[in-house]
Amino acid sequence: MSEDFEVILHTKSYLPDPEYKAQSHLGDYHNAYQEFLKNPEGFWDRMAREIEWMKPWDKVLEWDYPYARWFSGGTLNITTSCLDRHIKAGRRNKLALIWRGEDGEERVYTYRQLHRDVMRFANALKRLGVKKGDRICFYMPLVPEHIIALLACARIGAVHSIVYAGFGAEALHARIRDAEAKVVITADVGKRRGKVISLRSIVDDAIRNTPSVEKVIVLCREKCSVELYSEMEEDFYSLLDGVETDCPPEEMDAEDPLFILYTSGTTGMPKGIVHTCGGYATGVHYTARYIFDLKENDVLWCTADTGWITGHSYIVYGPLSAGATVVITETTPDWPDPGIWWSIIEELGVTIFYTAPTAIRMFMRVGEEWPNKYNLDSLRIIGSVGEPLNPEAFEWYYRVIGKNRIPVLDTWWQTETGMHMITTPLGEPMKPGFAGLPVPGIEVDVVDKDGNSMPPGQGGLLVIKKPWPSMMRTVYRNDERYRKYWNQIRNYYTAGDLAVKDNDGYIMILGRSDDIIIVAGHNLGTAEVESALVEHEAVAEAAVIGVPDEIKGQAVKAFVILVKGYEPSQKLVSELTYHVRMSIGPIAMPASIEFVDSLPRTRSGKIMRRILKAKEMNMDLGDTSTLEE
Ligand code: ATP
Ligand code: MG
Repeated sequence: MSEDFEVILHTKSYLPDPEYKAQSHLGDYHNAYQEFLKNPEGFWDRMAREIEWMKPWDKVLEWDYPYARWFSGGTLNITTSCLDRHIKAGRRNKLALIWRGEDGEERVYTYRQLHRDVMRFANALKRLGVKKGDRICFYMPLVPEHIIALLACARIGAVHSIVYAGFGAEALHARIRDAEAKVVITADVGKRRGKVISLRSIVDDAIRNTPSVEKVIVLCREKCSVELYSEMEEDFYSLLDGVETDCPPEEMDAEDPLFILYTSGTTGMPKGIVHTCGGYATGVHYTARYIFDLKENDVLWCTADTGWITGHSYIVYGPLSAGATVVITETTPDWPDPGIWWSIIEELGVTIFYTAPTAIRMFMRVGEEWPNKYNLDSLRIIGSVGEPLNPEAFEWYYRVIGKNRIPVLDTWWQTETGMHMITTPLGEPMKPGFAGLPVPGIEVDVVDKDGNSMPPGQGGLLVIKKPWPSMMRTVYRNDERYRKYWNQIRNYYTAGDLAVKDNDGYIMILGRSDDIIIVAGHNLGTAEVESALVEHEAVAEAAVIGVPDEIKGQAVKAFVILVKGYEPSQKLVSELTYHVRMSIGPIAMPASIEFVDSLPRTRSGKIMRRILKAKEMNMDLGDTSTLEE
């Protein structure tokens, strides 16, 4: 990274109501952070004590660069923190799960019911021959049985690998093979935008030539719309016939694997990230309780799918460990109309709403009259994850959904990190465009390629300077790839993102380091230029890439989706170019702007700039398994 990667920093900030800090579990962020710095292992030791263990650990951390072992010697089962302890603590009749189907159908589970059903399904899996360490692949819609089966795997020590049920047969096949899954759990159908989508037939295709697969468990939602092949397939509910209700939790070593999960594939071939039991359980409980500040009466709705890390950590393990009520739904944000999500918040009294910038920008595009139809007074925290929340989208989210008073938690983290790493803790000033500060327990910095810390205002590589409990332990069957994260800059974990900090240590994410654009020797992060474009009233979404330029090395090419009512024109091109020039400088001025109706995205909604670039350069598209159709 060259020295002159200067970034113009926004200076706006909003002060949240001091009550948030006063009432929060974390208390004063700066105090908490100082406490951590004084004794990092002591901090994590304290946090680990907040979950349930069978046997305490001998040592908090063993760091044999780049391999970490957390809570060595300790044993636990994450499901006792998520279920059993709430039963004991008098929360048995509290709602754990509220599910909402597309047609308005609703199902609820108390902690007692969830606990019972998890144990029964765990026993069913055992009866099928599933043992500790076996890999189970999920290809399921977001229904309660999915959560039940997932927790049942954890209960018996089987390793789950969840594949988003929107992926095609090929992507599923590759993941089943990679994990050598013994069992695949699916449903006959998923429901999306009023359509019934066959999942089971995709699984049929996907398990050709996968010798590891012994059984396929099918949840029949449509009163068994499919005939099951008796040699191989089992009906989800028939499996429960005659099973015992009680299933003692398998004793897991803190470092035993809990799950494998593939990254989103935004920048290349997805990586099979491996998380372990003790550190992950500690990390997600900690952030659910101290960052999302989950309290007894909270109803958390994280709109992600369980197929992404966000779903693992903040639909399932984190909030259940913290004893919250979790909302899950099969609905899409704009079907049957863009009011559906706001109506769910109103009706279910959601207090914490967690979504992605792509959804926020979609809502901006369709207009604020939709959320304005509903009473959103129950909300107390609104969050964002997945991509940079550009200032324009922040402002809209804060004003229209947050009513200028509810804290916006823009959370930066990754599949690899397992838990929130950077955000604006409750009570700290919020700065549009900045994700915020490292959470206590985490040390981050922005550095050049040699690991030298960059001063405020100078962009560079985002690194994490010390191991943390919920860090990935390896990339499944590709440990070399794991080591690369820690070897690019010695002793540091390189996240693969570009960032900049301001004078207060706030971090702004500037884009992916793979997507960096170098114009006449100056580095540009994609997010900066995209944010500037989206600021313009005509622009709904933008993506930029670097294209070869004879004089400057690279030039910026922008792809722009216009707000409804605007038409592409040469005048608009000039206006947008000028706008970028004024907000960032001549270096960032797009050399060309193409107006488009859509952008290539992952199925979780992230813009895939590498696809735009490959198309532009007539190159091979690379791995497209996670590309949305
Ligand atoms: P792949 O690693 O396969 O290319 P991916 O990086 O998109 O896919 P994830 O682990 O799902 O896979 O996403 C993590 C990445 O998402 C981060 O590295 C970052 O680029 C982006 N991200 C997540 N949250 C934020 C945020 N709040 N602000 C900015 N970027 C974010
Ligand atoms: Mg990544």
